[in-house]
Parts: sequence; C-alpha cells; structure tokens
Amino acid sequence: MDKKIITVQNLVKHYGNFEAVKGISFDVYEGEIFGLLGPNGAGKSTTLEIIETLRDKTSGKIMVDGFDLDTQPNEIKKIIGVQLQTSGFYPGLNLLELIDLFSGLYNQKVDPYALLDLVNLRDKAKSKVKQLSGGQKQRFSIATTLINKPRIVFLDEPTTGLDPQARRNLWELVRNIRKQGTTVIITTHYMDEAEYLCDRVAIVDSGRIVAMASPDQLIDELVATGFERPKEMKKANLEDVFIHLTGNTLRETQIPES
Ligand code: ADP
Repeated sequence: MDKKIITVQNLVKHYGNFEAVKGISFDVYEGEIFGLLGPNGAGKSTTLEIIETLRDKTSGKIMVDGFDLDTQPNEIKKIIGVQLQTSGFYPGLNLLELIDLFSGLYNQKVDPYALLDLVNLRDKAKSKVKQLSGGQKQRFSIATTLINKPRIVFLDEPTTGLDPQARRNLWELVRNIRKQGTTVIITTHYMDEAEYLCDRVAIVDSGRIVAMASPDQLIDELVATGFERPKEMKKANLEDVFIHLTGNTLRETQIPES
C-alpha cells in the first residue's frame, strides 16, 4: 500500500479575502481508506471539491493517479466517483431507471442487479428514491458513485443522520468497496467511525492540517503526553447497550408513496 494515488502540495483556497485552505499538503495511498476530519468550516469540503475538479483552487499542485489537475481534469473525472445527495436525483425514476440514466451519462455498461446486490437494495429495484429509508438512500448514492468503475471514491459524511444499525451496515459497505481495490476518501464527524474505517486520517482545523497518521498512532501520541480521560471508561458504552438490545439487523421500513 505505498503507491501514492493522490498528492496535494501546498493547496491554498481564498474566497475573496478569506483564506479557507492555508497551504495544506498530504498524500493518499492506493487502496487505503483515508479520513478527512475536522470541525465545521475547517476546509474539508473545499479541499475535496477541488480534488474532485468541482471547485477552482487559488494555488498549489494536485496529482490524481498521475494526472495533473491543472492540465488533465477530464482524465481525473473519469477515474473518480463522487457521492451526490440523493435529493438531486430525478424523483420520478426508480432505482433501475436511475442506474440506467447514470450508466448512459458515463457511457458504461453495468449490471444493475449486481450493483444493487452490492449495496443490498435488489428488492428496492423498482422503488423510487423518495420511498427509501435514510440508510437505503445513502447506500444507493454510494452505488451511483461506483457506476463508472472509479479508482477513487469520495464520500462526504455518508452516515450522518443514520441509526446505529444503518451506520454499521454502511461501514461494511465501505470496507467492501476498498476490498475490491478502490481507494476511499471519507469525511465524518463520528470519531468511532474514523477509528473503525480509516487507515489514516488528517485532522484539519482552520484550513491547516494539524495532525496526520493512523488513528492508533494519534491516540498513542496523545497518551504519551500524559493525557488521561477524566473518567475511567466502562467496558461498554451506551451504543453497545443499544446494539445489544436492538441487534444488528437493519430496520428499514418502506416509506409509502405519497
Ligand atoms: P468544512 O467542509 O470543513 O465544513 P468548508 O470547506 O465547507 O469547510 O468551508 C471552509 C470555510 O470556507 C468556511 O468558513 C466556509 O464558510 C467558507 N466557504 C465555503 N464555501 C464558500 C464560498 N463559496 N464562498 C465563501 N466562503 C466559503
């Protein structure tokens, strides 16, 4: 896992007089799950959208799988999958029709049922997006990022608003995507999620990377400074109680068509 698939060098982004990204540099290795963490307004989305070719940078150099963002943005577009909010999907189309639409746009042949199997939505093939639960919508939007068989997938807070079962289900989906050789870049506000999923994380604050390493390494470094949690942790937490009582099975009631 040591081929660099993304390199970002000295990335700067100004919005008018405001410097949202202040010269950040990082590499993402092929086949890893890389997390971009940080408080709201830190500059995560700006950074991701620049790499995704959706936003202009002020300065800096970005290479994605050997392509230079400045001169070959169209080559980059072909090898990345970007998760879109399902609210932007045509409301009148069902999942099969949407997959058909996207594969036409990307000029790709896909087996729609194989794709729906991957995200566990075969039984919803003829449903419209608005009839899906929150977790199902997220899984479908992730499925659409895979249509152009990307080498890198970008997921922006994919589990926000999901119940613990749906969140865990999505974690396994992300791991499966990586298992197939795809590099994953993810943003999340859930530190347990980052700890479970990410090989490495970069913590961004006010437009700067303040730490970058594996979650384990970052935790060890903090402990080495003498840090101790104010209260001794119990062997389980409330989420463990919740999962113990309600199980891992997905609860996805179909929302009737209005
Ligand atoms: P994050 O994704 O970490 O929450 P963003 O990249 O969305 O952070 O935003 C970083 C900073 O840039 C914030 O202060 C935000 O208000 C500002 N910002 C984002 N987009 C714009 C824009 N289009 N115009 C002006 N300021 C922006």
